[in-house]
Amino acid sequence: MTRSPLSDRVEVYGRSVQALLHAMEFLKLKARQVLSSHGIESLEPEEWYPMQSVLDSFNDILEQVGPHTTRSIGHSVPRSAVFPPSISSFESALESLDQAYRMNHRGSGDIGSYRYQPGGGKSASMVCDNPYPCEFDQGVIEALYDRFPPRDSIRLRIEHGSGGCRGKGSHACTYFLTW
Ligand SMILES: [Zn+2]
Repeated sequence: MTRSPLSDRVEVYGRSVQALLHAMEFLKLKARQVLSSHGIESLEPEEWYPMQSVLDSFNDILEQVGPHTTRSIGHSVPRSAVFPPSISSFESALESLDQAYRMNHRGSGDIGSYRYQPGGGKSASMVCDNPYPCEFDQGVIEALYDRFPPRDSIRLRIEHGSGGCRGKGSHACTYFLTW
């Protein structure tokens, strides 16, 4: 997951980085220590922060705290980050995720994407080749399901495709979603 040449030219919107603090409520001191060790001393919602610092913070949390917490940060993203106002369903939320991703990042550079592909019936696939951790993106998708619960659905199932994982050095993760 070394994409560093792009990341110093890309910034992340403070509101979306706040998800990290919200998810780590009981580990707030740890969260602040990690952020400040990468140059983010105070987190202002309307400010922008270097993407590389944010990614380095995510990697530290994944390594030092664990995948469960990384997933929780993903869970709290839709609560904090900017999303397009037109979302009305789980499918439209999945479809808008890439746009939301772009609304929360600025600057020039290839930041990767969230590629939504509708499946038959209550299924879809999502290809994520952005530099955030796999667990984080699964948390984001789960949170969209919770926020826009589809009718006649009891739970969301996320199956990780076998074609490689960013956590193991691959370029992208594919998730097969059924609900
Ligand atoms: Zn993965």
